[in-house]
This record gives sequence, C-alpha cells and structure tokens, in this order.
Amino acid sequence: MAQLIDLKVGFSCNNHCIHCVISDKTDENDLTLDEIKKMIDKYIERYGKIQLTLTGGEVTIRKDFFELMNFIKNRKENGKITFVDVQTNGRMLSNDDRQKAAEDVIDFYLIALHCDLPEIHDSITMAKGSFIQTTNAIRKISTSVGKEKIAIQTVINRKNYQRLKNIYKFVHDEFGLTEFNITFPHPIGLCYSQKIVPTYKEVQPYVNEALSYCLENGIKPYIEELPFCVFIPNLRKYAFDFLERRCINVIGYGGQKDGELDYQKLFSSGHKKYKSCSICKYNKKCEGVWKEYFSLYPDENMIELMH
Ligand code: SF4
Repeated sequence: MAQLIDLKVGFSCNNHCIHCVISDKTDENDLTLDEIKKMIDKYIERYGKIQLTLTGGEVTIRKDFFELMNFIKNRKENGKITFVDVQTNGRMLSNDDRQKAAEDVIDFYLIALHCDLPEIHDSITMAKGSFIQTTNAIRKISTSVGKEKIAIQTVINRKNYQRLKNIYKFVHDEFGLTEFNITFPHPIGLCYSQKIVPTYKEVQPYVNEALSYCLENGIKPYIEELPFCVFIPNLRKYAFDFLERRCINVIGYGGQKDGELDYQKLFSSGHKKYKSCSICKYNKKCEGVWKEYFSLYPDENMIELMH
C-alpha cells in the first residue's frame, strides 16, 4: 500500500478565512518548485510508492502550477505516485487552463465551500467574489471529470453553523455531489477565538440536522472532530462506524516551523477530555476535543450533550 503523504507546498492563499489555521505561518516562504520536486522524490525513495495530498496554503495560485502538474504527472506515469488529491478553495480552477492542467493529474478534489449564501461565504473567506469562483470551479470540474471526484469541505464557524444542512442541500441539489466533510474547526492561528469557534452545545442541533439530511439522501459524510456525545442516539452508530474506517496514518511536511509531521502522533497528543468524560460510556473509544478547544472553553461539560 502506498504511503499517504500530506505536502504543504506553502502558505500563500487568495482567501483569508476567518477560521484559518495557518495564519501564524503566512510569513514563511512558499516551497520553490525545486524544493517540492526534491521532497516528493525523497518520499518516493523512502516509501517506494506514495499517495499525495497537495495542500497549503493554496496550491492552485502558484505561478509554476503547470510545471508542478507536469512533474507529478511524470511520477504518476512511472507508477511512483498512485493517487493525487488536492485541498483547495477552487477559485483558480474556475480558469479553463488551470482546470485542464489539474484534470490530467488530480484524482480527487476537496473543495472548501463555507456557505450556500454568497455573502456569508465571502465574509468567511474575506475575499469578495470567492463564492462565484468556487462554485464555478465545482460546476466545471464536476462536468468535466465527474462529480464523484469532488468532496466539499465546510469548516464550521460562528457565521455558518446554523446553515450546515442548507449548505449540503445546495451542493447536492445544484451539483449532484454526494461527498461532504462536516468539520469542527481546530482552534489554532486566527481560529483560536470564541468569536470564531462556537461551542459543541451550540452546533449540536445543526450537526444532527445536517447529518440526518445527508443519510436520508444516501450521502455518507466524513466527520471531523465531532465526539460521540454531539450526536443523537440514532446517528451515533454512524459516528462509530466512521471512526472504524477512518485512516490517519499520514506523514507530511508542515512548513518551516513544523517540519516533517506524523499525523497519527500529532492527532493523539493533540486531544484532551473534560473531567466529566470519565463517567461517559464512550470514554474509551472517544478521542475527546482539541486541546485548544479545551483551553478556549475550559468549563464545558460534554456529558451534558448526551441525549
Ligand atoms: S468522552 Fe467526553 S467528549 Fe467523548 S463522547 Fe463522552 S462526553 Fe463526549
């Protein structure tokens, strides 16, 4: 099995999201094309075959995007890269030339769409017109490479949490997409703020409403950072099953400050539980909440969420 590699190619971005988790790294230089090539080849040499996730920052805004796509295409043709996915806001993929270059190389797109309402999406990305560009890209990619190659990632924050179901319904009705990520934010960088991150208690009814909608429509969303107590009993089984099939055996490069990362280790050391969790029947299986959420909301009582 090819090793999963998550490669942050740099932190430049054309969005300026209010929940951005890399805002403390934007002063770092982006990797040069040469550095990216060397890094990819280093991982290939170490693991033989890799599955590559391109992320950042925003990889599609790079001036050398076409050269990068060509390089990866070559490594795919040699069988050294077995799968490529990209985490993107999609805006630049609304341009035909970039979309075509990506189409030859990218196997899966995780596109960030943070609201079904343009004004809210743009106020989250702090980039006017970003909703139009992102949705144009979704339309273009789903028409040319297939809707099954796209998932939508919505990061929950104070501006959008009440609209989760509407967001998935919009994407499902408008583009026919059936893959979504329901992602509770990691409160680091700009995101470390009660003004950005709602509490689990606040989001609970909307998460359940959104997940019910998804399951009723044959959609099996990826769920991130939502402990079992957030779900109502008939949806909790989905959360258990999801945890069983999730894979976080990922190695990566996180930029100059973080260097090489082992996401499995990072994940297990990054979580914490509240005192009251000790009496929870799911305590053993549950990962708890991000440490930073705990310090942002030290007086939460997660067990009270349990229905
Ligand atoms: S252990 Fe705590 S966070 Fe996890 S499900 Fe139970 S109450 Fe929730």
